[in-house]
Amino acid sequence: MKSPVDDGAGVALDAQVLSIEDLISFIDACPTPFHVVDRSAAMLRLAGFTQMDEAADWSDAAGSRFVCRGGSLVAWRHRSCDEGFRIIGAHTDSPNLRITPQPDTGQAGYRQLGVEVYGGALLNSWLDRDLGVAGRVATSSGTRLFRIDQPLLRVPQLAIHLDREVSQKGLLLNPQNHLTPVWGLGLRTLGEFAEVAAEAAGISSNEVLAWDAMLHDLTPSTVAGIDGEFLHAPRIDNQVSCWAGLQALLDSPAAAGPSAVLCLFDHEEVGSVSAQGATSALLPTLLERIAGTRDALHPALARSLCLSADGAHATHPNYPERHEPDHYIAMGEGPVIKRNANQRYATDAVGEAAFATACEKAGVGHQVYSHRGDMPCGSTIGPFAASTTGVTTVDAGVAQLSMHSAREMCGARDPLDFALALREFLSAAT
Ligand code: ZN
Repeated sequence: MKSPVDDGAGVALDAQVLSIEDLISFIDACPTPFHVVDRSAAMLRLAGFTQMDEAADWSDAAGSRFVCRGGSLVAWRHRSCDEGFRIIGAHTDSPNLRITPQPDTGQAGYRQLGVEVYGGALLNSWLDRDLGVAGRVATSSGTRLFRIDQPLLRVPQLAIHLDREVSQKGLLLNPQNHLTPVWGLGLRTLGEFAEVAAEAAGISSNEVLAWDAMLHDLTPSTVAGIDGEFLHAPRIDNQVSCWAGLQALLDSPAAAGPSAVLCLFDHEEVGSVSAQGATSALLPTLLERIAGTRDALHPALARSLCLSADGAHATHPNYPERHEPDHYIAMGEGPVIKRNANQRYATDAVGEAAFATACEKAGVGHQVYSHRGDMPCGSTIGPFAASTTGVTTVDAGVAQLSMHSAREMCGARDPLDFALALREFLSAAT
C-alpha cells in the first residue's frame, strides 16, 4: 500500500508537520466532545496559548488564548481589530448512543445498560460492534473525564432466521427496544454503571452525582484502500474539521494579520441550541471581550469572515441518483464549498470566492456542492454563526461517505489539504 502522502512525511506548515497519523491519533483519543476539548486544550497549551477563566475580569485578551465551556472550546490569536476576525467554526459532537440517567437494566438473563440516541445516528451502524464507554462524571467539586477502551458492550443484531424479511424490507430498529447493549449475564445491579464510571475516573462511586456518558466503537482508525487513498474512522464528522481548524490556528502567525478565532461547538448534531452551542451567546460574547469594547467590536465584525467547517457528502458510487448530477463530489479533489439557496448552508458568492481564493493560495483544488432539488438539505453551524455575528460566512468541509455512521470514511489526503486551505483562510482579505 502506498502512503497517501509522499514519503509518509506529511505536509509542512510553517510551525508543524501535518500527517494523517496525527489526525488518526487525534480521533482515537477523542471518543466524546469533552475529550475533543481536553485534547485541543492540551495542544493549545503546548503551543503557548493561555487558558482564560470566563468568570474572571479580563483586562486584556490580546495574544494567544482560549476558553473551554463544557464540550465547546474557543481559541484565538488576537493582534488588533484593524483587519477584523477570521473565524473558523466546527463541531465537537457526533451522533451516538448515550447512557441514560438510570441505566442499570436487563432482560432474559442479561445485564444491560439503557441508552438514548443522540442526533441523527445511522442506528444499524452500532450493531455487532465492540463498544467502549467514555464521558465525564460530575462530583460536588467539578467534573472528571473517563474512558474505558475495553469491549464492555455490544448491541447484538437479531439473527436472520428470526427476521426473514430483513434483506427485502430493510432493517427497522426501534430506538427504545432494539438498541439496549448487553454487558453481562445475571440480574441487573443498581448502581453498577456508576461504580464502573467512578473507577475509570479514579474516584469512589459515592462521589459520582451524575454523568454525560456515551458509547464508542473500539476499532482503531486506519488508512485504507488499494493505494491508501482512504481514512476509515469514527467521528470524521466532525473531528476532521476540529483537527484541521486547530492545525490552521496553531500555524497562524502570532504577530501580524487579522485576528484568528477557532470555535469548536458542542451540540450541532441536535440543533446547536444549548448554553455552549452555535446558537448561544458564546461566540458573540467572546468576540466582544476579545475586541475590548463594543465600539471596537462592530467595525471589526464588518471587516471579518467566518468559515463553518463541517463534513460534505461525497457522491456515493452505489447511489449516484441521490446526488445533484452537475455537482458530483469526489474524494481527493480538495475541500468542498457548500451552497444552498435556502440558506441551509450560509455560503454566498462573496464567501465562496474568499474560500476558493484561499484554496488556490494553498495549492489545493476545491469543489462546490449543491443538494438535489427533490430532497431536503441538511444544515450545520454556518447559518447560526452568520446570524449571531452578521459576518459573511462560508460553509465548507471534507468530502466523506457514510456520514453519521459509527464508522465513516473520507479521503486520506483531503483533511491535510483542508488544513492548508484553512490556514490561508485565516489571513484572507475581505
Ligand atoms: Zn457535521
